[in-house]
Amino acid sequence: MIHFVGAGPGAPDLITVRGARLMAQADLVIYAGSLVNPDLLDLCKPGATVLNSAHMTLEEVVAAMLEAEAAGRVTVRLHTGDPSLYGAIREQMDLLRAGGAEFDVTPGVSSFCAAAAALRAEYTLPDVSQSVIITRMEGRTPVPEGEGLAGLASHGCTLVLFLSAGLLEAAQEELLGGAYTADTPAAIVYKATWPEERVYRCTVGTLARTARQNGVTKTALIAVGGFLGTEYDRSKLYDPTFTTGYRKGEQA
Ligand code: SAH
Repeated sequence: MIHFVGAGPGAPDLITVRGARLMAQADLVIYAGSLVNPDLLDLCKPGATVLNSAHMTLEEVVAAMLEAEAAGRVTVRLHTGDPSLYGAIREQMDLLRAGGAEFDVTPGVSSFCAAAAALRAEYTLPDVSQSVIITRMEGRTPVPEGEGLAGLASHGCTLVLFLSAGLLEAAQEELLGGAYTADTPAAIVYKATWPEERVYRCTVGTLARTARQNGVTKTALIAVGGFLGTEYDRSKLYDPTFTTGYRKGEQA
Protein backbone atom coordinates (compact mmCIF):
# COMPACT_ATOMS: atom_id res chain seq x y z
CA MET A 1 0.00 0.00 0.00
CA ILE A 2 1.12 3.56 -0.74
CA HIS A 3 0.32 6.35 1.70
CA PHE A 4 0.62 10.04 0.95
CA VAL A 5 1.21 11.69 4.32
CA GLY A 6 1.21 15.33 5.38
CA ALA A 7 4.31 15.96 7.46
CA GLY A 8 2.98 19.14 9.03
CA PRO A 9 4.74 22.52 8.94
CA GLY A 10 8.08 21.53 10.47
CA ALA A 11 8.01 20.65 14.16
CA PRO A 12 8.30 16.84 14.23
CA ASP A 13 5.48 16.48 16.77
CA LEU A 14 3.04 18.21 14.41
CA ILE A 15 2.67 15.20 12.12
CA THR A 16 -0.67 13.47 12.85
CA VAL A 17 -0.84 10.34 15.00
CA ARG A 18 -1.90 8.42 11.88
CA GLY A 19 0.96 9.85 9.86
CA ALA A 20 3.47 8.85 12.53
CA ARG A 21 2.03 5.32 12.67
CA LEU A 22 2.32 4.96 8.89
CA MET A 23 5.89 6.26 8.99
CA ALA A 24 6.76 3.55 11.55
CA GLN A 25 5.29 0.87 9.27
CA ALA A 26 6.87 2.02 6.03
CA ASP A 27 9.50 -0.03 4.20
CA LEU A 28 10.07 2.88 1.81
CA VAL A 29 9.82 6.59 2.69
CA ILE A 30 10.12 9.20 -0.05
CA TYR A 31 10.22 12.65 1.52
CA ALA A 32 10.16 16.10 -0.05
CA GLY A 33 13.60 17.08 1.18
CA SER A 34 13.41 20.74 0.22
CA LEU A 35 10.88 21.45 2.98
CA VAL A 36 10.20 18.41 5.19
CA ASN A 37 12.08 18.56 8.49
CA PRO A 38 14.59 15.64 8.36
CA ASP A 39 14.01 15.04 12.09
CA LEU A 40 10.75 13.36 11.02
CA LEU A 41 12.83 10.55 9.54
CA ASP A 42 13.51 9.43 13.14
CA LEU A 43 10.02 7.92 12.91
CA CYS A 44 11.19 5.42 10.26
CA LYS A 45 11.70 1.81 11.32
CA PRO A 46 15.25 0.44 11.25
CA GLY A 47 16.22 -0.69 7.77
CA ALA A 48 13.61 1.37 5.94
CA THR A 49 14.73 2.75 2.60
CA VAL A 50 14.67 6.56 2.62
CA LEU A 51 14.73 8.62 -0.58
CA ASN A 52 14.83 12.42 -0.93
CA SER A 53 12.53 13.44 -3.78
CA ALA A 54 14.32 16.80 -4.13
CA HIS A 55 16.84 14.88 -6.26
CA MET A 56 14.24 12.90 -8.26
CA THR A 57 11.86 13.44 -11.16
CA LEU A 58 8.15 12.59 -11.07
CA GLU A 59 8.88 9.45 -13.12
CA GLU A 60 11.62 8.32 -10.72
CA VAL A 61 9.39 8.88 -7.68
CA VAL A 62 6.50 6.93 -9.19
CA ALA A 63 8.78 4.13 -10.42
CA ALA A 64 10.18 3.71 -6.89
CA MET A 65 6.67 3.57 -5.44
CA LEU A 66 5.42 1.07 -8.03
CA GLU A 67 8.47 -1.14 -7.55
CA ALA A 68 7.92 -1.21 -3.77
CA GLU A 69 4.22 -1.92 -4.34
CA ALA A 70 5.01 -4.87 -6.63
CA ALA A 71 7.26 -6.28 -3.90
CA GLY A 72 4.43 -6.00 -1.36
CA ARG A 73 6.15 -3.26 0.63
CA VAL A 74 4.57 -0.30 2.45
CA THR A 75 5.43 3.15 1.09
CA VAL A 76 5.02 6.58 2.66
CA ARG A 77 5.27 9.59 0.38
CA LEU A 78 5.90 12.42 2.82
CA HIS A 79 4.88 15.95 1.80
CA THR A 80 5.26 19.14 3.79
CA GLY A 81 2.23 20.69 5.50
CA ASP A 82 -0.93 19.29 3.97
CA PRO A 83 -0.32 17.47 0.67
CA SER A 84 -3.33 19.07 -1.04
CA LEU A 85 -1.74 22.52 -1.16
CA TYR A 86 1.07 22.99 -3.70
CA GLY A 87 2.06 19.38 -3.08
CA ALA A 88 2.15 18.14 -6.69
CA ILE A 89 0.35 14.97 -5.59
CA ARG A 90 -2.30 14.85 -8.32
CA GLU A 91 0.23 13.89 -10.99
CA GLN A 92 1.63 11.16 -8.75
CA MET A 93 -1.82 9.79 -7.95
CA ASP A 94 -2.77 9.70 -11.63
CA LEU A 95 0.38 7.78 -12.57
CA LEU A 96 -0.11 5.37 -9.66
CA ARG A 97 -3.69 4.73 -10.76
CA ALA A 98 -2.47 4.14 -14.29
CA GLY A 99 0.05 1.67 -12.86
CA GLY A 100 -2.73 -0.15 -11.01
CA ALA A 101 -1.51 0.81 -7.53
CA GLU A 102 -3.68 1.55 -4.49
CA PHE A 103 -3.01 4.58 -2.33
CA ASP A 104 -4.57 6.78 0.33
CA VAL A 105 -3.92 10.25 1.72
CA THR A 106 -3.38 11.32 5.33
CA PRO A 107 -3.86 15.07 5.78
CA GLY A 108 -1.39 17.28 7.61
CA VAL A 109 -1.23 20.58 9.43
CA SER A 110 -0.68 23.13 6.69
CA SER A 111 1.84 25.90 7.22
CA PHE A 112 -0.93 28.49 6.91
CA CYS A 113 -2.43 27.07 10.10
CA ALA A 114 0.99 27.08 11.75
CA ALA A 115 1.44 30.71 10.70
CA ALA A 116 -1.82 31.72 12.39
CA ALA A 117 -0.64 29.93 15.52
CA ALA A 118 2.70 31.74 15.40
CA LEU A 119 0.82 35.03 15.05
CA ARG A 120 -1.61 34.10 17.86
CA ALA A 121 -4.25 35.16 15.34
CA GLU A 122 -7.66 34.10 14.03
CA TYR A 123 -8.11 34.43 10.27
CA THR A 124 -11.90 34.67 10.41
CA LEU A 125 -13.21 37.48 12.61
CA PRO A 126 -16.85 38.66 12.55
CA ASP A 127 -17.17 41.88 10.55
CA VAL A 128 -13.48 41.77 9.53
CA SER A 129 -13.20 38.75 7.26
CA GLN A 130 -15.09 35.51 6.89
CA SER A 131 -12.97 34.21 4.02
CA VAL A 132 -9.35 33.19 3.56
CA ILE A 133 -7.76 33.38 0.13
CA ILE A 134 -4.79 31.05 -0.28
CA THR A 135 -2.74 31.92 -3.31
CA ARG A 136 0.74 32.58 -4.64
CA MET A 137 2.55 34.98 -6.92
CA GLU A 138 3.24 33.76 -10.41
CA GLY A 139 6.78 32.45 -10.59
CA ARG A 140 8.08 29.78 -12.91
CA THR A 141 4.74 28.10 -12.25
CA PRO A 142 2.04 30.09 -14.05
CA VAL A 143 -1.12 31.30 -12.30
CA PRO A 144 -4.31 31.01 -14.38
CA GLU A 145 -5.82 34.17 -15.79
CA GLY A 146 -8.49 35.42 -13.45
CA GLU A 147 -6.39 34.56 -10.38
CA GLY A 148 -4.00 37.50 -10.56
CA LEU A 149 -3.17 38.84 -7.12
CA ALA A 150 -4.62 42.32 -7.69
CA GLY A 151 -7.95 40.76 -8.62
CA LEU A 152 -8.02 38.48 -5.59
CA ALA A 153 -6.94 41.41 -3.44
CA SER A 154 -10.06 43.31 -4.51
CA HIS A 155 -12.02 41.33 -1.90
CA GLY A 156 -10.00 42.78 0.97
CA CYS A 157 -10.44 39.59 2.99
CA THR A 158 -7.78 37.60 4.82
CA LEU A 159 -5.18 36.53 2.27
CA VAL A 160 -2.25 34.15 2.66
CA LEU A 161 0.54 34.01 0.10
CA PHE A 162 2.54 30.83 -0.32
CA LEU A 163 5.72 30.47 -2.38
CA SER A 164 6.15 34.22 -2.78
CA ALA A 165 8.69 35.41 -0.20
CA GLY A 166 11.17 36.23 -2.95
CA LEU A 167 8.66 38.25 -4.97
CA LEU A 168 7.43 40.76 -2.46
CA GLU A 169 8.12 43.97 -4.41
CA ALA A 170 5.66 42.81 -7.06
CA ALA A 171 3.28 41.25 -4.52
CA GLN A 172 3.09 44.48 -2.56
CA GLU A 173 2.20 46.43 -5.70
CA GLU A 174 -0.54 43.99 -6.62
CA LEU A 175 -1.99 43.94 -3.11
CA LEU A 176 -2.14 47.74 -3.17
CA GLY A 177 -3.88 47.49 -6.54
CA GLY A 178 -6.70 45.66 -4.74
CA ALA A 179 -8.64 46.63 -1.64
CA TYR A 180 -5.71 46.86 0.77
CA THR A 181 -3.97 50.11 1.64
CA ALA A 182 -0.38 50.78 2.64
CA ASP A 183 -1.57 50.69 6.28
CA THR A 184 -3.35 47.33 6.09
CA PRO A 185 -1.70 45.04 8.65
CA ALA A 186 0.48 42.25 7.27
CA ALA A 187 2.95 39.71 8.58
CA ILE A 188 5.75 37.52 7.34
CA VAL A 189 6.08 34.18 9.12
CA TYR A 190 9.38 32.45 8.43
CA LYS A 191 9.71 28.71 9.10
CA ALA A 192 6.65 28.43 11.34
CA THR A 193 7.12 25.81 14.10
CA TRP A 194 10.81 25.23 13.23
CA PRO A 195 13.39 26.17 15.88
CA GLU A 196 14.35 29.13 13.66
CA GLU A 197 10.75 30.42 13.38
CA ARG A 198 10.50 34.19 13.11
CA VAL A 199 7.48 36.49 12.89
CA TYR A 200 7.68 39.96 11.37
CA ARG A 201 4.63 42.16 11.75
CA CYS A 202 4.42 45.00 9.26
CA THR A 203 1.93 46.57 6.84
CA VAL A 204 1.19 45.96 3.18
CA GLY A 205 3.23 49.07 2.41
CA THR A 206 6.31 47.72 4.18
CA LEU A 207 6.15 44.04 3.20
CA ALA A 208 9.01 44.02 0.71
CA ARG A 209 11.25 46.18 2.88
CA THR A 210 10.59 44.02 5.94
CA ALA A 211 11.55 40.87 4.06
CA ARG A 212 14.67 42.52 2.64
CA GLN A 213 15.83 43.93 5.98
CA ASN A 214 15.46 40.53 7.63
CA GLY A 215 16.94 38.48 4.80
CA VAL A 216 13.74 36.48 4.20
CA THR A 217 13.70 35.04 0.69
CA LYS A 218 12.00 31.65 1.11
CA THR A 219 10.15 29.24 3.43
CA ALA A 220 7.85 32.01 4.56
CA LEU A 221 4.19 32.84 4.37
CA ILE A 222 2.77 36.31 3.94
CA ALA A 223 -0.51 37.02 5.70
CA VAL A 224 -2.49 40.15 4.97
CA GLY A 225 -5.70 41.66 6.29
CA GLY A 226 -7.64 43.33 9.05
CA PHE A 227 -7.54 40.15 11.12
CA LEU A 228 -4.07 41.33 12.20
CA GLY A 229 -5.52 44.61 13.44
CA THR A 230 -7.19 45.53 16.71
CA GLU A 231 -10.82 46.05 15.62
CA TYR A 232 -13.35 43.21 15.50
CA ASP A 233 -16.80 42.25 16.73
CA ARG A 234 -17.34 39.60 19.36
CA SER A 235 -18.75 36.28 18.18
CA LYS A 236 -22.46 35.59 18.42
CA LEU A 237 -21.77 32.04 19.53
CA TYR A 238 -20.42 33.05 22.95
CA ASP A 239 -22.51 36.19 23.41
CA PRO A 240 -24.38 35.91 26.74
CA THR A 241 -27.60 37.22 25.12
CA PHE A 242 -27.49 34.81 22.16
CA THR A 243 -29.49 31.58 22.26
CA THR A 244 -28.03 28.52 20.54
CA GLY A 245 -29.06 24.87 20.35
CA TYR A 246 -26.85 24.27 23.40
CA ARG A 247 -27.42 27.32 25.59
CA LYS A 248 -30.25 29.76 26.38
CA GLY A 249 -29.29 33.44 26.12
CA GLU A 250 -29.86 35.86 29.02
CA GLN A 251 -32.23 38.81 28.57
CA ALA A 252 -30.29 41.76 27.15
N1 SAH B 1 1.79 21.76 1.38
C1 SAH B 1 2.48 22.82 2.09
C2 SAH B 1 2.90 23.96 1.16
C3 SAH B 1 3.98 23.56 0.18
S1 SAH B 1 4.47 24.89 -0.85
C4 SAH B 1 1.60 23.32 3.22
O1 SAH B 1 0.45 22.89 3.35
O2 SAH B 1 2.08 24.13 4.02
C5 SAH B 1 5.87 25.50 -0.03
C6 SAH B 1 5.59 26.87 0.58
O3 SAH B 1 4.85 26.70 1.76
C7 SAH B 1 6.81 27.66 1.00
O4 SAH B 1 7.34 28.41 -0.07
C8 SAH B 1 6.25 28.58 2.05
O5 SAH B 1 5.55 29.65 1.44
C9 SAH B 1 5.22 27.69 2.69
N2 SAH B 1 5.73 26.99 3.89
C10 SAH B 1 5.90 25.67 4.05
N3 SAH B 1 6.29 25.40 5.31
C11 SAH B 1 6.37 26.59 5.96
C12 SAH B 1 6.67 26.99 7.29
N4 SAH B 1 6.99 26.10 8.23
N5 SAH B 1 6.62 28.31 7.60
C13 SAH B 1 6.27 29.22 6.68
N6 SAH B 1 5.97 28.91 5.41
C14 SAH B 1 6.01 27.61 5.06
